[in-house]
Amino acid sequence: MTIPQQIEAQKSSFLKGINRPISVRIKHLTTLREMVRENESLFYEALHEDLGKPEFEVYSTEIITVLNEIDVHLKNIKNWAKVRSAGNSIFTFPSKSKIYIQPLGTVLIIGAWNYPIHLTLMPLIGAISAGNTIALKPSELAPNTSSLLAKLFKEYFEPEFISVYEGGVNEATKLLKEPFDKIFFTGSTHVGKIVMKAAAEHLTPVTLELGGKSPAIIHKDADIPVSSNRIWWGKTLNAGQTCVAPDFVAVHESKKAEFIEESKKTLHTFFKDDYIIGSNYTQIVNDSHYERLIHLLNTGNIITGGKTDPETRFIEPTLMDAEWSDFIMQDEIFGPLLPLITYSKPEEVMQKLQTMPSPLALYLFTEDEQFQKDILTHVPFGGGCVNETVSYLANHHLPFGGVGKSGMGSYHGKYSFDTFSREQSMLYKSFWPDPDLRYPPYDDKIITWFKRLFS
Ligand code: NAD
Repeated sequence: MTIPQQIEAQKSSFLKGINRPISVRIKHLTTLREMVRENESLFYEALHEDLGKPEFEVYSTEIITVLNEIDVHLKNIKNWAKVRSAGNSIFTFPSKSKIYIQPLGTVLIIGAWNYPIHLTLMPLIGAISAGNTIALKPSELAPNTSSLLAKLFKEYFEPEFISVYEGGVNEATKLLKEPFDKIFFTGSTHVGKIVMKAAAEHLTPVTLELGGKSPAIIHKDADIPVSSNRIWWGKTLNAGQTCVAPDFVAVHESKKAEFIEESKKTLHTFFKDDYIIGSNYTQIVNDSHYERLIHLLNTGNIITGGKTDPETRFIEPTLMDAEWSDFIMQDEIFGPLLPLITYSKPEEVMQKLQTMPSPLALYLFTEDEQFQKDILTHVPFGGGCVNETVSYLANHHLPFGGVGKSGMGSYHGKYSFDTFSREQSMLYKSFWPDPDLRYPPYDDKIITWFKRLFS
């Protein structure tokens, strides 16, 4: 079957309503849970091949997060999908009003390579629990995980319900020509624009989960050893190839020397100067990303770190001295390089951030409540943490998403269900009574009476 024929089959399956009943959605979520559980070891192998990811990281950032999300949806789906009664209006009296939570139809999910299970299955869970049929396009840059997903979905699900489309730009371009009812895209800001343009052709709504330069700001009152641990944990996870990794640190000038010393201690404690790909550290995904990062490394000033190995695409976590105008401060780094910038006054850092594209995340290390409030008031960003990095996305009660160049829309937990649903209004009247006040011919006495009543 060609792509248009396959999508047509998924659309017609949706219109037949087979996967609408809550019981069917629960069955599908349960099947997805089994699929992940029964093939956990295959996922570890695929991610080892694709990125040399340590098993601990695969389990903690890809497997457990997905299983937990399925459980959250299984527990809440009946409540989320309930028809809600709405209040009545004098203008529609006598009548009843209801809001139905409807699936969108046939949706397309395009994933990125850095967390190739998490970034395809997390939105998929929302799309299933909302009752859609789904086309999944995993990233070609994690080819082993992509083909494993394609194989498993064929085994566990009917293709009219969930189909996996493997491939890169060509396949994605073909898919984007189809009239989907929603596109959920995770990836770069550049490709996000291409997706949004294609979606506009069919007036398809989009959720864009993009990236950006997420700052970590360390204020003068911060506990530097704890800040260093939490920042380097967020930065070395997946070798910095994480959309919400701290991209750079802005450190109060009085704390620069201490942060440098603590960074050395933290990295030594984490890795003992013995980085083993697949065991305690991840490799850079491919040669072109490796070369891009080496170029950033060579054009900057290394404070600590800087070892590399092209054979294994290893780049050591590296702290670098930087200025706002440096080359490394222009685009998202997406690797284990951490530029350090200093500031003397909070206004300085806030003004600078206001001139940059809004990041996906922001991390603030301080107990100064006024500074926390000022950042929230003056700097737009997707989401973030105070005295922590990254982990806010593990709380399914929090919507996860960007703003401006870091994306639009959000997901996780109920927000995922809502992202793949729409609210449909219905007003119910009986045939009796049927007063003729509003029908032509219009009566001047009635308008006078109406005006008295409503003004
Ligand atoms: P990417 O934009 O290159 O690719 C993402 C997906 O888009 C892939 O499936 C790819 O096949 C497809 N694609 C690539 N070019 C395309 C084109 N011309 N037309 C249509 N589809 C195309 O991104 P990436 O390299 O996979 O991921 C890295 C980026 O994603 C970073 O910017 C990172 O911050 C961001 N990201 C964001 C999140 C988030 O949740 N917000 C998560 C992970 C990654």
